[in-house]
Amino acid sequence: MQVSKSNKLANVCYDIRGPVLKHAKRLEEEGHRILKLNIGNPAPFGFEAPDEILQDVIRNLPTAQGYSDSKGLFSARKAVMQYYQQKQVEGIGVEDIYLGNGVSELIVMALQALLNNNDEVLIPAPDYPLWTASVSLSGGKPVHYLCDEQANWWPDLDDIKSKISSNTKALVLINPNNPTGAVYPKEILEGMIELARQHNLVLFSDEIYDKILYEDAKHISTASLAPDVLCLTFNGLSKSYRVAGFRSGWIAISGPKHKAHSYIEGLDILASMRLCANVPSQHAIQTALGGYQSVNDLILPGGRLLEQRNRAWELLNDIPGISCVKPMGALYAFPRIDPKSCPIHNDEKFALDLLLSEKLLIVQGTAFNWPWPDHFRVVTLPWIDDLEMAIRRIGNFLQTYRQ
Ligand code: PLP
Repeated sequence: MQVSKSNKLANVCYDIRGPVLKHAKRLEEEGHRILKLNIGNPAPFGFEAPDEILQDVIRNLPTAQGYSDSKGLFSARKAVMQYYQQKQVEGIGVEDIYLGNGVSELIVMALQALLNNNDEVLIPAPDYPLWTASVSLSGGKPVHYLCDEQANWWPDLDDIKSKISSNTKALVLINPNNPTGAVYPKEILEGMIELARQHNLVLFSDEIYDKILYEDAKHISTASLAPDVLCLTFNGLSKSYRVAGFRSGWIAISGPKHKAHSYIEGLDILASMRLCANVPSQHAIQTALGGYQSVNDLILPGGRLLEQRNRAWELLNDIPGISCVKPMGALYAFPRIDPKSCPIHNDEKFALDLLLSEKLLIVQGTAFNWPWPDHFRVVTLPWIDDLEMAIRRIGNFLQTYRQ
């Protein structure tokens, strides 16, 4: 008899590492070189972590053998607390900070602690799909609001408003955004906060790319504009400090915590049940946040991330039938394929066909809960030569592709 997966997983999917990746692995085993533009993992592309972080983790290893407090090391949480003071967020104390094994673990924890069956959570479309998957896993119902490609991919406030119901518990925003690269201005943030205020929603603000900003983009922490709204801010070391493998992230809770005793108790229970986050990686946090911010060297003029983003954006827009909004932050581009020039009915099949023909791995837009099969995501992490080769292959492929 077959052993079946739990019903809890019925609506849970995470297609960034889905079926197309399996085909890519098989091709690699057969000896093909695959150009991988699918995952936002800086290290394999030659982005090294600041040496002081590595040295500090090594130095602290002997004292990192035991469990820590469930919320995390005091010194690391204090560094996070100071970080939010710099970002003008009021009222975050050491006890309001939970360290986790990456933001990923904390997203699941924060939703498991909040949701009852059929509670609704508003999530952007497109989104980073762990949010949708975690709401479903927690028994909740993900409700997607649209981000408007014509308006720099900013959230459509009217669409959010129209989707709020008596079951809505929380509003998720991802800023800077994965997959679109949008960075939200103050007016949009204020509009979203006002909706949360009026409808008593918890704000979940995923700010993991807050230091990866291009040109004149500025990041504003949602919580800095919302002292009267319960807000959980998510961030970590994976991207800005290039140590995704360390699995080091945090939540900082702000706003009227006195109205959320029970929810916070729920978070404490879940934090205790997993004992603590990986302790050696917790040691990286203080050094990272307090040290030299080498990420700035990558995003300022002449910096590798900025140059690659510029080139990828230009080359994508040069392909007939493709248009791409300029990403102002993060590590991705999310171009549109004009259905008139190349109609695509199943974008997962498109991604697979592209892989098989060009040995190039991208992620189809519907994997980010985008409702139409007309977008895909590439990471802008590869060296310019590889990006040029990859985008040229996409252009060539589209010229003859018919589904
Ligand atoms: N949130 C967003 C928007 C992401 O893009 C990612 C990873 O790509 C994560 C969270 C998860 O990051 P972590 O490595 O901290 O688990």
